[in-house]
Amino acid sequence: MDMNFFSSRHRCCPQCSERTVTVKDEEVTEYFHRGVVFHLVGFQVAIPLDVEMIQPGEGEVIAAKRLLQRGMRRYGRFFDVVLADALYVEAPFFNCCLEHGKDVIAVFKGEQRILFQDAQGVFSLMKPKLWKEGRCQIRAWDAEGFTTAEGIEVPLRVLHTEETVTERHRQNHRWIEKTEVHHWWWVTTLPMSRLSTCLLWCIAHRRWEIENDLFHTLVTYWSLNHCFKHQPTAILNFVLTLFIAFVLLQSFYYGNLKPQRRLHLTLIGLATELHLGLVVMQIPAPWICPRGG
Ligand SMILES: [Zn+2]
Repeated sequence: MDMNFFSSRHRCCPQCSERTVTVKDEEVTEYFHRGVVFHLVGFQVAIPLDVEMIQPGEGEVIAAKRLLQRGMRRYGRFFDVVLADALYVEAPFFNCCLEHGKDVIAVFKGEQRILFQDAQGVFSLMKPKLWKEGRCQIRAWDAEGFTTAEGIEVPLRVLHTEETVTERHRQNHRWIEKTEVHHWWWVTTLPMSRLSTCLLWCIAHRRWEIENDLFHTLVTYWSLNHCFKHQPTAILNFVLTLFIAFVLLQSFYYGNLKPQRRLHLTLIGLATELHLGLVVMQIPAPWICPRGG
């Protein structure tokens, strides 16, 4: 996943990327750093494993391929499937994963036009599968064997879902029901014989949300967007150190603290306690000396 760091109006180092933004009807150049993050999902602990900085003028997918090849070498046995954004629905990326024995699930936004039209055609003749998940009603069209994606070495499978979410909220002492419909498309190398529609939907969807949530968390609560020193190597090292600290803290939180202790202490609360412990050494940690039992 692509990340932008530390936007600024002043160029600070030779590896700053730049873009033009409009501020009060005036065009100004903004400088920033970009990186692609390799992130392991599907476990209780969120694990950002590696980052590859995107060079100025370079495409995200080019940097992602460098990252993926390093990831395959170092962490290849930890995962079977690569989850990717719509930007990655292209033959070199899919084929690179396949060559390493990995499958791909990617968000599909119709970049491969003929494949998209083919899938739409097939789905128009199909009855959708139906199921419910909490307040969400899902209609899913799932078909495989598409060979019209240019250059991709295996037949592909396309999943389209229409998700109707009904939310209830109180307004003027009355319950108001609001219905929202969302459409999702995914493309994958995984055939139905290896992964059911429901499970594919679950992995693609839920994992995606967890991943987005992780980045939001790292930026909002863990200063991922704070530039301690504006120098390319320093930036890379600060990001990687933050990843290590974040994984260690989560491991301690889930592995060492008892469930009843976690009920009253969030991960962010734990970080605050550790931070406080650095400043005031005498305070006993709450997981050593339970408050009120
Ligand atoms: Zn810079």
